[in-house]
Amino acid sequence: MNFLEERIQKDGIVKEGNVLKVDSFLNHQMDIKLFRQMGEEWKRRFAEANINKILTIEASGIGIACIAAEYFNAPVVFAKKSKSINIEGDMYIAEVESFTHKCKNQVIVSKKFLTPEDHVLIIDDFLANGCALQGLISIVAQAGATLEGIGIAVEKGFQQGGRVIRNLGYHLESLAIVERMDAETGEIMFREQ
Ligand code: 5GP
Repeated sequence: MNFLEERIQKDGIVKEGNVLKVDSFLNHQMDIKLFRQMGEEWKRRFAEANINKILTIEASGIGIACIAAEYFNAPVVFAKKSKSINIEGDMYIAEVESFTHKCKNQVIVSKKFLTPEDHVLIIDDFLANGCALQGLISIVAQAGATLEGIGIAVEKGFQQGGRVIRNLGYHLESLAIVERMDAETGEIMFREQ
């Protein structure tokens, strides 16, 4: 098991409805030392890519992306969630369905902060069905930027997102892939990497 899998095994809580709670170290209270290890690992896995911008989505992607950005020496842009249809100014817009909140959001990024010159690494905390990621990929495409890769902390391998994204040919690196989890026993199994 790698460092993140070990931490999930130790402190992750399996909830009903295929939800894994990792709020004691990843997306509510944040373990910055762990985030540094994650940043280092993504830097290793994307060593060949020429990345000049990190893109994530609010809220829980931001902390992880900011620490990772130190290793890539790149600024972080986060997509904002917005319910309003009348968005002013020059924005890229994508529709995203939330897995945890079961609602639809528009996510927006200002055209000022993503351009055809950019080589983008997308970072997010979770990959489940891939809706959040598809929204971010669409925004990169709208900008005419190059998507160099996607770094995910926890992929739920039993949901379709990872397979869909890999089949589309993107370089996706998930630091932990949960193969199976059981809310009754609390058991969490990881895919070998
Ligand atoms: P997707 O769009 O891939 O279905 O879901 C991704 C988003 O839903 C992530 O950004 C994350 O915030 C949230 N999410 C999905 N599954 C889980 C989960 O099991 N636990 C937590 N804490 N968040 C999740």
